[in-house]
Amino acid sequence: MAQFGTVFCDTYVSARFSDGRWQEPTMQALAPIEIHPAAHVFHYASTCFEGFKAYRWEDGNARIFRLKDHVARMQKSAASLRLPVPDADLLAGMVEQLVANLADDIPPPPSSLYLRPTLIGTEENIGAAAAPSRDALLFVIASPVGDYFSGGAKTLKLLVDDEHARTTDQLGSTKTGGNYAAALGPTLDAKAEYGVDQVLFCPNGNVQETGAANFLLISDSEIITKPLDSSFLHGITRDSVLKLAADNGYKVSERNFTVEELLTLIATHEAALSGTAATLSAVGGLVYRGKEFTVRDGSPGANTQKLSAALQAIQNGSAEDTHGWLTQV
Ligand SMILES: *Cc1c(COP(=O)(O)O)cnc(C)c1O
Repeated sequence: MAQFGTVFCDTYVSARFSDGRWQEPTMQALAPIEIHPAAHVFHYASTCFEGFKAYRWEDGNARIFRLKDHVARMQKSAASLRLPVPDADLLAGMVEQLVANLADDIPPPPSSLYLRPTLIGTEENIGAAAAPSRDALLFVIASPVGDYFSGGAKTLKLLVDDEHARTTDQLGSTKTGGNYAAALGPTLDAKAEYGVDQVLFCPNGNVQETGAANFLLISDSEIITKPLDSSFLHGITRDSVLKLAADNGYKVSERNFTVEELLTLIATHEAALSGTAATLSAVGGLVYRGKEFTVRDGSPGANTQKLSAALQAIQNGSAEDTHGWLTQV
């Protein structure tokens, strides 16, 4: 299948916020949209998005994974950017309607339909650097995506960076475009200089996350990850994996840890990145201050594999959804 994020379904749904209220959503053919060059988003980055998946089960019906939680996170992102906050029912309804319309286009598991709600400030005002956008556009596009690991599960190598921050503390838990712009330069430099796949940002020597995924350490009996605070994105895959780890008898340790501790822990713990696109991706090596470190023996670990499989089994319907994470449409 084509590269992740480059193929789109031919239908999408959008709703405008104007005159102080949300207008009725409309389902449309996917096409370029007209936006005024003075729109708030182009100048002052008033934008946020979500990313999650719908799966088609053998019964032909679609199931959306953790819809309510993604809607709530989008509301939080919108509020932090002082954008009009979409009502939960409005946004969830738009997503459900779109998925229902596209149900026949969803490829069967391990493929899925990736959903991308996006909210942008559209007020035409280049003098609004210190004012919120009073107009906004909310839309949801959909993209069929294949198995992330179809080329074989490869382990990732990360640069451990204690010099740069991924973004600001203020916007760390907001899913907003500017955060990726901030992480892009350091990530490209690290790829060019060290041949790594991603940067693990560790401001002041404290392990945080990469540009677009959370970071976890997993042993045979324990899973360790940073506790929630405003500095990083609260991944729903992270949360799902922690809950499944607890179900499977692992001790869940949400605690801060330093780079020094990380370099000790990788002798006994597997390392993984978590996010919607790949569920869990095994990390095989780290580069820190020019030195290479191997995570255990460098190969993908059994615990990472087991937890990833447990999550995917719920998503594709081969295990019971005991947490009520799926919305049937
Ligand atoms: C989206 C994102 C994640 C992962 O979130 P999920 O809900 O698990 O997909 C982690 N970190 C950043 C910076 C992100 O943008």
